[in-house]
Amino acid sequence: MSTAPRFRFAPSPTGSFHVGGARTALHNWALARRLGGTFVLRIEDTDEARNRPEWTQGIIDALAWIGISTHDEHFEGPHFQSEHAQAHVEAAQRLYESGAAYYCDLTGQEVQDRAKELDITGYDGYSRDRGLEPGPGRVLRFRVPDGHTIVRDAVRGDVDFDNSTIEDFVLLRGNGTPMFLLANVVDDIEMAITDVVRAEEHLPNTPKQQMLWEALGQEPPRWAHVPVLVNEQRKKLSKRRDKVALESYRDDGILADAMVNYLMTLGWTPPRSEELGSEIFPWSELEAEFRLEDVTLSPAFFDVKKLVAFNKQYIKNMPVDEFLAEVDAELPSDWDRERFAAIAPHIMERLERLGDAPGLVDFLFLPDGTDPEMDEVSWDKATKPEWSAGLLSDLIAEYRGLDAEQWQTDVLKATIEDVMERYEIKLGKAQALPRVAVTGRAVGPPLFEALEVLGQDETVRRLELAATRLQADLAPD
Ligand code: GLU
Repeated sequence: MSTAPRFRFAPSPTGSFHVGGARTALHNWALARRLGGTFVLRIEDTDEARNRPEWTQGIIDALAWIGISTHDEHFEGPHFQSEHAQAHVEAAQRLYESGAAYYCDLTGQEVQDRAKELDITGYDGYSRDRGLEPGPGRVLRFRVPDGHTIVRDAVRGDVDFDNSTIEDFVLLRGNGTPMFLLANVVDDIEMAITDVVRAEEHLPNTPKQQMLWEALGQEPPRWAHVPVLVNEQRKKLSKRRDKVALESYRDDGILADAMVNYLMTLGWTPPRSEELGSEIFPWSELEAEFRLEDVTLSPAFFDVKKLVAFNKQYIKNMPVDEFLAEVDAELPSDWDRERFAAIAPHIMERLERLGDAPGLVDFLFLPDGTDPEMDEVSWDKATKPEWSAGLLSDLIAEYRGLDAEQWQTDVLKATIEDVMERYEIKLGKAQALPRVAVTGRAVGPPLFEALEVLGQDETVRRLELAATRLQADLAPD
């Protein structure tokens, strides 16, 4: 009988949620959902010195942000490792009673001294046959059997570990508390986990864990170790060196969908990518197509520039309503939302991040009569041609003369086209001056759309101000 697979995501709440963790979670989520299985969230909170409750909430919030909802029918948990300490100790007891584990009274220092003396690394199995009873300060060690351990890995194929290279590792510390390896395996067994999909950095633990599964009389799970994420220098992403917190990207205006899509393409290429020349796919397709067997073996470069390029695509393709909802938190509270909604469709394709939006359109939200801050370099450049003053004064006259209902993008454009013919210049050149005059800078949203939103009175006022300024510039000293 084949049972539905049970995946798990088992973060330790010891810091902000790492983008690599998010990718592991997504892999497990995609597989659990596609295969009609379960995604178990287990918070591995046994390291009391480093755990903090707020990190646990941070994990749940981060998962929700990337679409892993505690309300989904495939979601189970959160379970807390700290609540299973009893089961961990009982399993250790069983291993001791069956002879699969034994007590050792050497201190850490003594283990090191022996290793030095014997010229070996690690623990030499000193207490294997000493028949020690449990006692204060005595650690429980696993008796690693002779032979080889073959880890069947969905990403890497069979990985062969020579057991002679694995020391008799500690299961219970001298104070009786369980070690991570034991707790992790016992929880996986208790939670009936069938598939362990996690980062490659855990691979060295896997033969030990597989031996524990077997010694506890269980069929080991299917394993999969996904290559780690690296930075530009090909170094493993680290908290100290790199920006790794998922929430810092969220706070920077990266959309959840873009982040999810990008994370899924690290080390894996969606099948239709080549045919479509794009790696942008909705979650439904990523989930349907993701296969561990197709994950590459080499470390994946977490390229922030590429993430931003994905984000740009996502912002551009978003429904306007959704964009307005997402960008709202980035806008100053006193900005007129209706006015922003009018310009929004015209700036969406220019944004790399949501947070870029205010800086692009702030000239539309100045309190009445406030002049835009002028970028002098752009101003000097735009006012250099000798036709500048003429063009400006003609444009003012034409724009002032329009009826209110004519104040529309197409009329505004046609009007400037008439004016620029008089000066025999092209639209690109002709636009530069009114753009700087009205917005204060050389780049921004499409000009005529912006002028329509700004309105006739304020546009004309700013153009007049620019004309005065230009006259002053031109006046002999
Ligand atoms: N708590 C471990 C970690 O966060 C989980 C390891 C595992 O997935 O087995 O690295």
